Parts: sequence; C-alpha cells; structure tokens
Amino acid sequence: MINYMDDNIPKKQIAILGSTGSIGTQALEVIDKNDSLFEVYALTANNQVDLLIEQARKFRPEMVAIGNEAHYLQLKEALADLPIKVFAGDESIAQVAEMQPIDIVLTAMVGYAGLQPTISAVKAGKKIALANKETLVVAGELISDLAASSHSSILPVDSEHSAIFQCLAGEGNNPIEKLILTASGGPFRTKSLEELKHVSSAQALKHPNWEMGAKITIDSASLMNKGFEVIEAKWLFGVSAEQIEVVVHPQSIIHSMVQFADSSIKAQMGMPDMKLPIQYAFTYPDRIKTDFQRFDFTQCSQFTFEQPDVKRFRNLSYAYDAMEKGGNMPCILNAANEIVVAAFLKDKIGFLQMSDIIETVMAKAEFIAKPTLEDYVATDLVTRKLTKEQVDKLGLRN
Ligand code: MN
Repeated sequence: MINYMDDNIPKKQIAILGSTGSIGTQALEVIDKNDSLFEVYALTANNQVDLLIEQARKFRPEMVAIGNEAHYLQLKEALADLPIKVFAGDESIAQVAEMQPIDIVLTAMVGYAGLQPTISAVKAGKKIALANKETLVVAGELISDLAASSHSSILPVDSEHSAIFQCLAGEGNNPIEKLILTASGGPFRTKSLEELKHVSSAQALKHPNWEMGAKITIDSASLMNKGFEVIEAKWLFGVSAEQIEVVVHPQSIIHSMVQFADSSIKAQMGMPDMKLPIQYAFTYPDRIKTDFQRFDFTQCSQFTFEQPDVKRFRNLSYAYDAMEKGGNMPCILNAANEIVVAAFLKDKIGFLQMSDIIETVMAKAEFIAKPTLEDYVATDLVTRKLTKEQVDKLGLRN
C-alpha cells in the first residue's frame, strides 16, 4: 500500500480542460482536498473568464488557456502579477493538453469541442480522465486506435463507466457476458407521450438525482445521454452492442454492473456524487479516504428497476442504430443532438421534436463507412448546418 503522507512521492500534475464547468469545478474540489497528492498544471475554459481567473489565482497553475480569444486581454491582465502563462484560442487548448510535465488530462469540456484536445493528449501519451463522452461517441475507433499506439490510457469519469471500471478491477481477462448500464430515467420518466409534447426546458433542467451542466441534463431527460454512454461503453470496454443493456434504476445508487460469463454480477454503489469517479480516475488503482456522504441501506426501503421505454424516449434507440451502423453515423447523431439541444434550451422546438429532427438528419446526412479525422470534422460541420435547417423549418410551424 502506498503511504500518501510520504513527501517523496511527486504530486501528480493535472490539466483540467473545461475547468469552469460542473465536472471541472468538482475536480478542483477533489484536488483542493488532496493537495499533497495532486497539483494543477493547467486550466482551460471556453468562455467563463472570471471564474477561470479566480481558479488560476487560487490553484496557481503553470498555464491557463481560454478558448474564446475575446477574453485574452482580460485574462492576461488579471494574472499579470503571477508567473502563469496565458494562452487563447482553441488550438492553444489542444497544445496545453500535450505539455510534457502533465500526468493526467481531465477532459471536461462539453460536446464535440473535446475532440481535438483529447486527440492531442492521447497522442502525447497522457493518462486521460475522460469526462467528455462525446469524443468517444464521435470518433471512438480513432481514439481507441491512437490510445493503443501511443500507450495512453483512458480512465472513465462518467459515473456508469467508472462503476464498470471499478467492477472490472482485479478481474484480468475474465470473460464479460454483459455490461448493465443504469439510468435514473431523468425528470420525465413517468410522463406520457402527450405530456412530453409540452414539457419545457426549465422542467427538463430539474434532474432528480444529479447536479450537472445544462447540456447533459437535457441529454439525461431525453435518454440521449444513456445512448451516448452505450457507445462510450463499447469503446472503453471493447464489447459489442448486444452485450450492453440499459436498465432504469430511479434511485441512482447502483451506478452500473458487470455480468460475467459464470453468471455472477458485480455492482458498484454509493450516493450519486461525481467527485468519487473523478477522484478514482485520479488515484487509480488506489483508493483514498473521503468525507463524501455514505449510503445508508436502512434509509432506503427499495431499489427498483424497469426497462427503458424507447417509444417515449426514441433517442436511446437512435444511439443503438448509430452504433450498429458505425462509420460517421455516431458523429452525425452527436452533431444533430448538439444543435437540437441548443434549440430546445432556447424554446425554439419542443422536447419530442428533438428526436424527430435527429431521425430526419440521420436519414439525410451522407454516410461514410470508414471516416478519417477530416471526414469527422466535415461531417460535424455539414450535419450542424443540416440540423439548423430542420430546426428552422419546425420552428416556423410552432
Ligand atoms: Mn453518466
């Protein structure tokens, strides 16, 4: 066992891409509580410059980068009295991710924007604490191949995948029969199709169990998040679509399970708190003590389970379709989803119309069986445009 009080163990150098978001801020809490183990080497954000400045002043990283170049001067001036290097622009974020002293890169940015920086970090052989699931949805094959050739390891931060990863610890090559991903079912689990027509973005933003950013909260309400997680699981654990099952577990205490070839099922449980999977990715294969809330079996009278309803939540079946089709189809799915979620958040389209548009776009977009990185970039661009056209068409009718 490692003695963590030993001052001779060098602190792990951590880069947080997307430090001002929900995962980024919770990761900084974990680092703050364990400052004898971890040090912040770099912080990056896209737009929230004030919070980035505050974080940089507190954690004193070697460097910070802001995606939106309009904020560069403000950032530079606010940190002028500190020896912190300041960069701006999307490319600088990808460059920060490959800096030599970094041990772990936490990819916590939202959506497709995570792709390029994750590729840089993987190529540089970093350990990736992966919170940006869209990267694996869009280009899972490419990332997996790159990780294998550069000896980079990808540690899941998504709670379901962290649960599976924890269940697999110590199992070597024991054959997996299936992965069972749990889903809370989101805020609309019990709503009828008729009711779902009229739900608002404000209602969707009230998740019953997890505190998360806006985009992933809408994805959770529509089950697209679970669909993405199925694709993410396929790439992380090398299983086929038939080996991944989704079960709705509204209490969100079992975070996911693995069923082995001998019929035994292992589950990972605990209170829903993203700090645990973040910390586990940072300390793996070790565990360290926390003051996180403990689950009390005597306070919970039942665990319940039900099948996800893909008639009301079609996005889940579209994700399985995209995964089976392969090629650039998951990239199309992701780009279409990013646009419809943004439109729903602005109340331009209804909740069910998100799925209508995704279905149309998946049928219309050009399919590429063996996409290169350039193909993914082009697919993303073209699909966004196509999806916006569909949003405008429907928006006019509303
Ligand atoms: Mn998750």
